[in-house]
Amino acid sequence: MFQDMGVGVNVRNVSRIPGLQRADLVRSEAFIGGAWVGAESRILVDNPADGSVVGDVPNLGAAEAMDAVTAARDAMPGWQGLTGKARGEVLRRWSQLMLAHAEDLARIMTGEQGKPLTEARGEVAYAAGFLEWFAEEARRVNGHVLTPHAADKRLTVLRRPVGVVAAITPWNFPLAMITRKAGPALAVGCAMVLKPSELTPLSALALAKLAEEAGVPPGVFNVITGEAAPIGEVLTGDPRVRKFTFTGSTAVGKMLAARCMATVKRVSLELGGNAPFIVFDDADIEAAVDGAVASKFRNTGQTCVCANRFFVQTGIHDRFAAALAERVGGFRLGSGLTGEFDQGPLIDARAVAKVRAHIADAVEAGARILTGGQSAGGLFFEPTVLVDVKPDALVNREETFGPLAAITRFETESEAVRMANDTSAGLAAYVFTKDMSRSVRLSEALECGMVGLNTGLISTEIAPFGGIKESGMGREGSRYGLEDYLDLKLVCAEIDLE
Ligand code: NAP
Repeated sequence: MFQDMGVGVNVRNVSRIPGLQRADLVRSEAFIGGAWVGAESRILVDNPADGSVVGDVPNLGAAEAMDAVTAARDAMPGWQGLTGKARGEVLRRWSQLMLAHAEDLARIMTGEQGKPLTEARGEVAYAAGFLEWFAEEARRVNGHVLTPHAADKRLTVLRRPVGVVAAITPWNFPLAMITRKAGPALAVGCAMVLKPSELTPLSALALAKLAEEAGVPPGVFNVITGEAAPIGEVLTGDPRVRKFTFTGSTAVGKMLAARCMATVKRVSLELGGNAPFIVFDDADIEAAVDGAVASKFRNTGQTCVCANRFFVQTGIHDRFAAALAERVGGFRLGSGLTGEFDQGPLIDARAVAKVRAHIADAVEAGARILTGGQSAGGLFFEPTVLVDVKPDALVNREETFGPLAAITRFETESEAVRMANDTSAGLAAYVFTKDMSRSVRLSEALECGMVGLNTGLISTEIAPFGGIKESGMGREGSRYGLEDYLDLKLVCAEIDLE
């Protein structure tokens, strides 16, 4: 069954993810122009929990990326020509198929990404929610008629699909980061080329399989797998791509956005965060600990809206830190495909090294470890809580992207706001207080795109998601999420008044 191809191992059509109802959802070919496209050169997909191979996908490049753009360009007129209702019906079927195969999608996701199965199930529902939401919005892409500036003029503003969309998405939410883009793009009549992370292509291809079954026409949704750089060059450079949407790190996003300017593409960026999590003396401590667990430790601390810097007021500091350490110290770590666990592995060895480096830097400057601090074998890392972390510690300057809660003490509200805003990132912020006036003051003062007040969970398809400062531009989800895929066109008509 295994055949050395010289460029990898041929494991095509072999599902290494146990317990699937539909093994054919694990694809080993990319999806371009409605056809499943293979290649001799393969990329192996690992389960980060144990290093086992769970699939393999084609290692495609620039030529196939251009084919995908051609397919999208050719498919777009027909798709755009449908009514919004008809496009919405296809998106709704796609969403329903995701829910019908939720357990398989969750297992595939856990198999290649490592998050606990319960979290993967949650992401499937969240991801399907974007398709459902935008299925409904497809019928409401209305223009405007303006009061004219002269008696013989008539002004109409049309909202037109922006054109072929190229998307690059990360590994941390292998489905939701895709549907959050595909939902609005397809709803308004755009066709799309997607390059998922090479670490999690199986979820993206399973989604493409369900798109095919839902009746998304050939070429409207294309998924290309392969090395990021050559594919990225086409997606950012090809003049036929009119919109580039990226979710990932700030460094890569900046570089790709700059390239898009040569052909003046519309660009949306969902980049890294460095969220403050501020707990005031008057907070409900249990709610604050619940919020910290949800916001910091979900997905092993690998979410862009993860709390990254904990600022806790002196009066509640010791109780909060002890309660958080006790809670996460009891986490069960393990592979989501073999049982129920609270925390999975990190994505790769570089991620583990970063957590270690942030702990070492803080401890060297006087921080104390309340719980964790050590590797738990392989890519697993103990959930860790540090106190007495200095404001200028590495962990407060960079996104850790791992299970590390680093707590810095503060005295006054203005001090907390100053420290919270002292970053180039501006994605999310969290505030725990029972004082309503203070929550309003902080909601206004914090420099970010989203504020969680007394909650650590802020994401839903019905609200705008996105950042300010170097965390990105544009919004995803909600009715605002359509705007990034629409151009305004003015029609100014001079009419005969007789
Ligand atoms: P990343 O390294 O920037 O990768 C993101 C995507 O970009 C992947 O598909 C990657 O492909 C691709 N890529 C990397 N280098 C490229 C290049 N030279 N040309 C074209 N594409 C390239 O980020 P990551 O480590 O996967 O994801 C974590 C980051 O995403 C964190 O900073 C997190 O905060 C951010 N994020 C932000 C949001 C948000 O909504 N704001 C949501 C989720 C994650 P390969 O993986 O195949 O190399």
